[in-house]
This record gives sequence, structure tokens and C-alpha cells, in this order.
Amino acid sequence: MHKVVIIGSGCAGNTAAIYTARAGLDPLVIKGHEVGGQLSLTTEVENFPGFPEGINGPDLIENMRRQAERFGAFYRDGEVIEADLSKRPFRLNLEGEWVETRTLIVASGAKARWLDLPSEQRLIGHGVSSCATCDGFFYREKKIMVVGGGDSAMEEANFLTRFGREVALVHRREAFRASKIMLERARANPKIEFIMNTAVDEVFDVKQNIVTGVRLKNLATGETWEREVDGLFVAIGHIPNTKVFKGQLDLDPDGYLLSHGGARTNIRGVFHAGDVQDRVYRQAITAAGAGCMAAIEAERMLEAEGH
Ligand code: NAP
Repeated sequence: MHKVVIIGSGCAGNTAAIYTARAGLDPLVIKGHEVGGQLSLTTEVENFPGFPEGINGPDLIENMRRQAERFGAFYRDGEVIEADLSKRPFRLNLEGEWVETRTLIVASGAKARWLDLPSEQRLIGHGVSSCATCDGFFYREKKIMVVGGGDSAMEEANFLTRFGREVALVHRREAFRASKIMLERARANPKIEFIMNTAVDEVFDVKQNIVTGVRLKNLATGETWEREVDGLFVAIGHIPNTKVFKGQLDLDPDGYLLSHGGARTNIRGVFHAGDVQDRVYRQAITAAGAGCMAAIEAERMLEAEGH
């Protein structure tokens, strides 16, 4: 029986692990399928306080994990595939093995959203990617396309200009969701071409099992045309990882956990931290702060109960 189980090993989960470990609660951290969370997929983090020169995302995450382990946090591979939160202790099915815990911190984050074209899905890993940091290296001197109009798309397009011969950024509207600074940085990058009011309609070539190009569609005029592309990076946002909690924890219509004040969910003893609940700020530092809040709430509850 664990005192604290933390689902997720991103910024929120790691910070919750540091705090609960230092409180002597021997937290178990279940890493989840995207180990290290979104920061492990990013490059330079320039806005995490304490790093005036910036820090590499994966390095920041690795530092956090080592810091938590130093105080006794235990990390396990795998995913929670089922959860029974109907009574305490809560029970979690960790890929076949049931784990019991008095408190639970859900820091399971959010995963990449796809265009959901059959051809796109077939070619994931064969030229279609949601992670420039992971896959950009494969596209040296190649033709790259990025889809999206948010900060992620700007960041990925900028990053990919280090590798690609050309980077085209395709966005479905005229206006951008991206912050001014990220948009300006992308606009100032001469290697990025902006293609507006346009959607990727089809990805070629499923038969060859490799990306060779796309069909684009101008959403204002309906005009379609084809373009040669070697790598397609889809950067159109994320979906919260809350499927196993459906029907137990209160979720908003998009599946984000609903807060019941502080880090509390609707179930006493289950706390939320990070992107799984936060659709507004979604920053490393706010996720870390939320992990700290969840840890303190779990700790206080366990203390009040005499554990
Ligand atoms: P986002 O802000 O939700 O933007 C998603 C973009 O994808 C939007 O432009 C959206 O278009 C487009 N999109 C969504 N579904 C689409 C579809 N089916 N087909 C085509 N386009 C589609 O997501 P994000 O860029 O991943 O950013 C998430 C959060 O992380 C934001 O708060 C962002 O500020 C933050 N972030 C910050 C940094 C940084 O500061 N370094 C880096 C990355 C992310 P519409 O605009 O038309 O809806």
C-alpha cells in the first residue's frame, strides 16, 4: 500500500515527487507513455526561472527526476490502464498489476492531437511526426512542413530550420493563436514560408510507406494543389490524458480535469497537477507549481489522518 502514487513524469509529476519525497512519503511515480512529458519533447526552455542562459527541456526533466530520487521517490515504467477510485485505498491497474494507494496525484498531462487523416495516421513514424525535437534530425537538407498556428507550431518551425532545406508552415486561418513573440520570431526566420487559410488534405505516399508530399487545400477558395514534402510535423495542440478516469473524476467537455479548489478533484484524496487540468497556462513553471500544490495537499491530508 502506497501513501502517494503520482501518475505522470513531466514537470508536474516530478515536482510533486520532490515535495512528497522530502515529506518522507516515499512516492511511487508511474512514468506513463510519454516519459518526461512535454518538456522531454521540447528543445530550449528560456522561461523557467533560475536558468538565465536557458536549459534544454530533457535536461531540466532529468534534473527534476534525479532530485526526486535523491529524497526517495521511486519511478516505474508503464501506464495506468484502469483506475478504481470508488473507495480508498484507490486501486490502479498498472498494465496488469494492481497498485493501491491512499492518495493519488494525477499529473498525466496531455498528448499530441493529429489531423486524423487515414494517410497521416498510416505514415506516423514514416515521415509524419508530432515531435520536432525527436525527429528533426532525420530531415537534414530535406523539405519540411509544419501544421498549426499556435506556439508549438512556431517553435517547431523555428527549430526545424536548423535541419531542413525549407520549412513551410501551414495554418488553417489568417489569424494566429501563437503569442506575439513566438510569431515574430518565426516571421523573422527567412527559412520559414507561411501558407495561410490552408489545410493538409492528404499525405502521400501510403503505398511507398514514406512521406513524399501532401495535397493542400485553400479553405477560402477550395483550390487544391500538391507539394513535395519529406517530413510533416503536426503541431495542432493536445488532448488531456484522462480516459481512465472518465465517469469517476469530473472532466470538462474536452476531457480536462475539473478543479474543485486548489489541487483538489471531486474525489477526496485525488489531486490534479499540470496540463491534465490546465488548459490556460500550460507552462513548465505553472505545471511545477501545480505539482507542488498537489503534493502539499496530499501531505496535509495524510498527516491529518495520522499516516
Ligand atoms: P494551441 O495553442 O491550442 O494551438 C493549436 C493550433 O493548431 C491552433 O492554431 C489551431 O488552429 C490549430 N489546429 C487545431 N486543430 C487543427 C486541425 N484539426 N487542423 C489544422 N489546424 C488545427 O496548441 P499549442 O501550439 O500546442 O500550444 C499549447 C499551449 O502551450 C499554449 O498555451 C502555448 O502558449 C504553450 N506553448 C508555449 C511555448 C513557449 O512559450 N515556448 C511553446 C509551445 C507551446 P486555430 O487557431 O484555428 O484553432
